[in-house]
Amino acid sequence: MAFDLDMIKKVYDRYSTRVAAARKATGKPLTLTEKILYAHLSEGEAHKAFARGVDYVDFAPDRVAMQDATAQMALLQFMQAGRPKVAVPSTVHCDHLIQAKIGAEVDLNTAKDTNKEVYDFLASVSDKYGIGFWKPGAGIIHQVVLENYAFPGGMMIGTDSHTPNAGGLGMIAIGVGGADACDVMAGLPWELKFPKLIGVKLTGKLSGWSSAKDVILKVAGILTVKGGTGAIVEYFGEGARSLSATGKGTICNMGAEIGATTSVFGYDEKAAIYLRGTKREEIAALADAIKEHLTGDAEVYANPEQYFDQVIEINLSELEPHVNGPFTPDLAWPISKFAAAVKENNWPATLEVGLIGSCTNSSYEDITRAASIARQAVDKHLKTKAEFTITPGSEQVRYTVDRDGYLGTFAEMGGVVLANACGPCIGQWARHTDDPTRKNSIITSFNRNFAKRQDGNPNTHAFVASPEIVTAFAIAGDLTFNPLTDTLTNEQGQQVKLDEPQGIEMPIKGYAVEDAGYQAPAEDGSKVEVKVDPKSARLQLLDPFAAWEGTDLNGLKLLIKAKGKCTTDHISMAGPWLKFRGHLDNISNNMLIGAINYFNNTADSVKNQLTGEYGPVPATQRDYKANNIGTIVVGDENYGEGSSREHAAMEPRHLGVRAILVKSFARIHETNLKKQGMLGITFADPADYDKVQEDDSIDIQGLTSFAPGKQLTVVLHHKDGSTDSFAVNHTYNAQQIEWFKAGGALNIIRKQMAN
Ligand code: SF4
Repeated sequence: MAFDLDMIKKVYDRYSTRVAAARKATGKPLTLTEKILYAHLSEGEAHKAFARGVDYVDFAPDRVAMQDATAQMALLQFMQAGRPKVAVPSTVHCDHLIQAKIGAEVDLNTAKDTNKEVYDFLASVSDKYGIGFWKPGAGIIHQVVLENYAFPGGMMIGTDSHTPNAGGLGMIAIGVGGADACDVMAGLPWELKFPKLIGVKLTGKLSGWSSAKDVILKVAGILTVKGGTGAIVEYFGEGARSLSATGKGTICNMGAEIGATTSVFGYDEKAAIYLRGTKREEIAALADAIKEHLTGDAEVYANPEQYFDQVIEINLSELEPHVNGPFTPDLAWPISKFAAAVKENNWPATLEVGLIGSCTNSSYEDITRAASIARQAVDKHLKTKAEFTITPGSEQVRYTVDRDGYLGTFAEMGGVVLANACGPCIGQWARHTDDPTRKNSIITSFNRNFAKRQDGNPNTHAFVASPEIVTAFAIAGDLTFNPLTDTLTNEQGQQVKLDEPQGIEMPIKGYAVEDAGYQAPAEDGSKVEVKVDPKSARLQLLDPFAAWEGTDLNGLKLLIKAKGKCTTDHISMAGPWLKFRGHLDNISNNMLIGAINYFNNTADSVKNQLTGEYGPVPATQRDYKANNIGTIVVGDENYGEGSSREHAAMEPRHLGVRAILVKSFARIHETNLKKQGMLGITFADPADYDKVQEDDSIDIQGLTSFAPGKQLTVVLHHKDGSTDSFAVNHTYNAQQIEWFKAGGALNIIRKQMAN
């Protein structure tokens, strides 16, 4: 599990020259975010004053982390690159596929059985290509990364939206799709729109019931779920320096809920304490040596309004504990106003389940603070009214808090310890309920609380708070209880009050673990065989896509003319299809089934020009493919918006669609199409969209002289014998044209590796 000290040294070595170059290029003092970004510009990317929120820039991240659900396609693609090993240190974490039902041990064993083929594949592919593998039960990706791999001033991408958790240790850590992870592991640069910057100045100091979680609950209330879009949030000020590194991790983690690209704190004494406490003294020493580069410039923090696009100030001394929800994480209630909100809105006041832990809130400090409340319940003879579960974030934390007696305290209070995995946080929760149609309330210390997120039940009102507040509510079983002011009646009929929580930042006896659940990769992976059962429904090895045939594309049939919104979810639906995300052919049976056919206003019903009959999009496309006929998909504005899902680009490619012609593309999807060797083009005149008819055969001309900035021509051959011809645009640069010609970016890398 060793972190890569040589890599970190190399990153730190370039800091002073890169930061000096950035200061010169921008002509101003720098925020921490800018320093980290400039230190990670990809080779060949010029130092200049990038327009925030506008310019796309190539970066070279230091690490890749993948969770088990999204790692499958990322690694299947990576195998296509022909590299003997990943280009940057990478890890896989088995956390998302474990369902919480009975308790840690039984649930873990069930998951190992149910997901055996996926785990075997991930373990063997990791072993072969030099990737660290964290087995099921080892913990949740972000907690494991914080404990082992995050480092101040680093840059990481991860195939999970809460990757920003590592910002607690001063890393720019960004959640991405599998295609991006594949590129970075294959040695390609990684593109990001140069972010806007939001500064959050923290003054004062937390006390009493308030915790780091309340900082982000408050920020979410201010910025809302969209307010951070396209921005990196940088925290600073004396209040920031007073927070533990794990508390900072909680804040950065849940920053995903405001749509932020990521969030970050500077390197400080708390970060050094955490690094030393997690047996990474060497990193703390290296960071100390360049610490002026691992925080923003003093001028920036003295006059933040001049350097950030937006500044928010929060006084921690005045911060009340918050409860956010239901159904959205930005509905923020200070605890003093929450009871009234519950009554006014008629939300179910009876609390059915309290859940603490997850990647967001399961540090030693979190657990000890929550346990100090649980202890009082036992000592003060209070009977816990709601169900109560604890999800440790990693085996190291679980082992340590068990050794120190805290899990025992939770058990005395009636709590159930779940596996070190995502479980209820991602809906992997077989919740016991007598009546799912009843409106009901739960409260968690997780990060996301959209409808159905935890238990799939739209009647569940999920609230989010800190672990200590969740524990207090679980004891009371009543959301109108305010633990700061109210009393509870104990089993002896006495009125008792809960005292303020007490936490311990770092374990006094140090962290300990018997088996962290880590599998190191083979030194020489060349003999390791990747395990995929050819009969598997969940996994399928990929074959390289074919290279371009070197001619114009003539006689393509129109597969679908999509009308209106066509997001990546319309192109490749999630839900039940996710179980096939490692099997391209099976998941391709969802291709474009959500898109609305312009000609009949119906989803998943298109005319098969070979038979004249209407049928589902995937089946129709498979018929064309079987007859060796290429097709084209036509779409409207912002085609492919939504989450970066590589399947949305791979499925059409796999099934034989040759081109996507739209009014405009969502940028990420357009890039994903290019990487897969697909032709993505736009109408030069959007009105030409109206010329496309249902029975058209379509030619794309000009490909033999395909060049950056040069338009192509589309010819529509209508059924009545008439034709329409018009210019189309593209945004392919020289490199991307090579991807198109080779049949995909990975085909080029494979060729390079073979030479
Ligand atoms: S615990 Fe929840 S938020 Fe964290 S990685 Fe798992 S599903 Fe995502």
